[in-house]
Amino acid sequence: MIDTTLPMIIYPQRFAKERRQFEGYLPLASLNALDGLLVDNGGEALVSLQFDVDRTQNRIIITGQLQAEILLCCQRCLEPCCFALKTTVQWSPAADEDDAALIDLQGYAPVMVGEDGALHLSELIGAEIVLNIPIVPAHNVNECSFNIN
Ligand SMILES: [Zn+2]
Repeated sequence: MIDTTLPMIIYPQRFAKERRQFEGYLPLASLNALDGLLVDNGGEALVSLQFDVDRTQNRIIITGQLQAEILLCCQRCLEPCCFALKTTVQWSPAADEDDAALIDLQGYAPVMVGEDGALHLSELIGAEIVLNIPIVPAHNVNECSFNIN
């Protein structure tokens, strides 16, 4: 059963125990990490997340997909350039730096939980989008106005 309302606050332990699944849209404008990075933040990110436990490694895991069409500034012609971002996530909540290092070795991306054991969806997704934005965004050469004579 997939829940179509994304939780803004994530409780990994409880969600993993209940094997929760979510899929829904998150407005890009709600992601503070993207402030100043996008030409336009009017779109939405499609987020799907599954919570489970990796029993062999005794880890809570959050796996899923993230898709968004984002508008960046082309570094050749300086016109807006649409980038289709699509990535998979494999997170595991970490209690501290040592735990995070271990999680990394176990093949997951560590995400730091707060003192209350919770994660904030908008922070997680914002950071993940930032990680996946091309360093030098640019149109394909045949679509870039810089090359039109
Ligand atoms: Zn261009």
